[in-house]
Amino acid sequence: MPDESNFNTIDTDIPEIKDGEVLVRSVYISVDPYMRGRMSDAKSYAEPYKVGEPIIGGIVGQVMASKNTRFEVNSYVEGRMEWAEYNVSNGSNIRRLKPELAPVSTALHVLGMPGLTAYFGLLHIGQPKEGETVVISGASGAVGTIVGQIAKLKGCRVVGIAGSAEKCEFLTNELGFDAAINYKTTANLFEALKDACPNGVDIYFDNVGGSVTDNVMKLINFQSRIIICGQISQYNLDKPEMGPRVMDKLLKTSSLMKGFIVSDFAEHNKEGLVNLTKWVQEGKITYRENIVEGFENTIDAFLGLFRGENIGKQLVKVADE
Ligand code: NDP
Repeated sequence: MPDESNFNTIDTDIPEIKDGEVLVRSVYISVDPYMRGRMSDAKSYAEPYKVGEPIIGGIVGQVMASKNTRFEVNSYVEGRMEWAEYNVSNGSNIRRLKPELAPVSTALHVLGMPGLTAYFGLLHIGQPKEGETVVISGASGAVGTIVGQIAKLKGCRVVGIAGSAEKCEFLTNELGFDAAINYKTTANLFEALKDACPNGVDIYFDNVGGSVTDNVMKLINFQSRIIICGQISQYNLDKPEMGPRVMDKLLKTSSLMKGFIVSDFAEHNKEGLVNLTKWVQEGKITYRENIVEGFENTIDAFLGLFRGENIGKQLVKVADE
């Protein structure tokens, strides 16, 4: 588990911009579990962060100065930039936002990377059909909340697994999940899942791995789809835990288990964003933001993801819009 001593904050001058560049003032910083993976030099899809260099992550900001004709002063952008109050960009790592369509902060969740992760994982891999049962672990977070709501739109029975009573109430009362299970207090998770899934599990959207997943796997149906999106329960371990071996279960049910990274589907980003925007505008999908104020609280907000402190998307508000 990382702590504050792994990070350092420094003061530098705000850089001058050159031709083709823009100066972006951070408004919302996104903290995301995948960043933990980059704090390790183990081989992965994303390059490790370099010790002593700034953390790079998703940021929504406002253009304060521009020498790039594509970006007007005062407009809003989203992109991968340094955890800093100001960034200079040549335009290649940022996209323009349309505040008239949705609040700009949504570009870091439902209308950004986590929303697309939910969309591609569930629809392209899971291919849900009406009447099927979908179980989601890490259900109350940025990705899980969107997966569940899309699954409801597709006519599925949706069961969420999350780490507090408040989170479970949010899922069933506000997001329309059919059932939610608190994996931290439920005495027998398998029995609770069996009760919540009387027809078994057709799709399992896994954000956490570990023993939660071991229990869901016992309930998978014939030709189920298991989507491996995240394994947050393993991110802070030196060695991953050994769980029950599931190959036999996959074989006997002719099931599909597939890992993916949201960028695998980059060619479909436009389709995903158009549909997610439409659903948000029509009120078919809603979202919650867990906002911490102040740049100096960024690291604590990031660490809070691993303590389960967030309901919905964890953001840090660094400046007023
Ligand atoms: P969340 O908003 O869900 O925040 C993290 C949540 O994980 C916490 O609130 C906590 O909720 C839960 N958690 C933390 N530690 C544990 C643990 N030890 N065991 C079980 N649950 C834990 O994050 P995101 O929605 O942004 O990400 C969800 C998952 O999706 C992550 O695993 C992430 O790495 C993955 N991901 C994958 C992508 C891809 O391209 N494949 C892209 C984006 C995200 P609780 O109280 O319920 O424990």
